[in-house]
Amino acid sequence: MFIDSHCHIDFSEFDLDRADVIKQCNKLGISKLIVPGTRLAYFERQLSLANAFPSIRNAFGLHPYFLDSYQNSHLKKLENSIEKNLETLVALGEIGLDKAISIDWKLQLKVFQVQVEIAAHFELPIILHHRKSHNEIIQILKQSQLKYGGIVHAFSGSLQVAEAYVELGFAIGVGGGITYPRANKTRNAIQQIPVSSIVLETDAPDMPIHGYQGLRNSPLKLPLVFDALTKLREESKEELQEACFKNVHNHLINV
Ligand SMILES: [Zn+2]
Repeated sequence: MFIDSHCHIDFSEFDLDRADVIKQCNKLGISKLIVPGTRLAYFERQLSLANAFPSIRNAFGLHPYFLDSYQNSHLKKLENSIEKNLETLVALGEIGLDKAISIDWKLQLKVFQVQVEIAAHFELPIILHHRKSHNEIIQILKQSQLKYGGIVHAFSGSLQVAEAYVELGFAIGVGGGITYPRANKTRNAIQQIPVSSIVLETDAPDMPIHGYQGLRNSPLKLPLVFDALTKLREESKEELQEACFKNVHNHLINV
């Protein structure tokens, strides 16, 4: 059995065939899809999808990409939505820092830091988004009072950085990135981290795997990510698959 630990099946890219994709996931043994929150306006949609499809699990959070419409009331509204749905949420996320976008850096820092505090307050794990921002993120996490770690989504970076996250209680999200031959540093890190820290993800509809560039990514590609992972690791396929499944349960709650 597989879990896609990061999949935006709530996005409009799936409006035409969502039910079909989810049904096919079940046939492939992808028993759960973790849907990270990206913006307040999507939370209701996430909740109704979880009602309609038993395999969907939600997280709520304010993603740095969508802060262009940020208002000061949003963090309070996030907190209220979390409080109302605390029993079903698997984490707070997807939150983080991204140096490759034009969103004001100070705003990103503020919104990230407050959300880390909210996660600490509600004792929720975190689903992290990073781009050129490992140092800043790790520093903020180290200063926080988090009860749990969470998942570093779409990890890319060195073994040393991966180990710093593992030390903080985070699992390393392995996605289509490892299927690209140029991702040497990341592949090397994934090869060497403890098997107890690996989780699988697609980040669908984004991050298509090698050979499918330009096409919509889908949670149905998760077994291909897994195949690429088995080529990097020494464990048997069975052992690796079981570990990836268990690790999601061990790093998130309410899965
Ligand atoms: Zn994402």
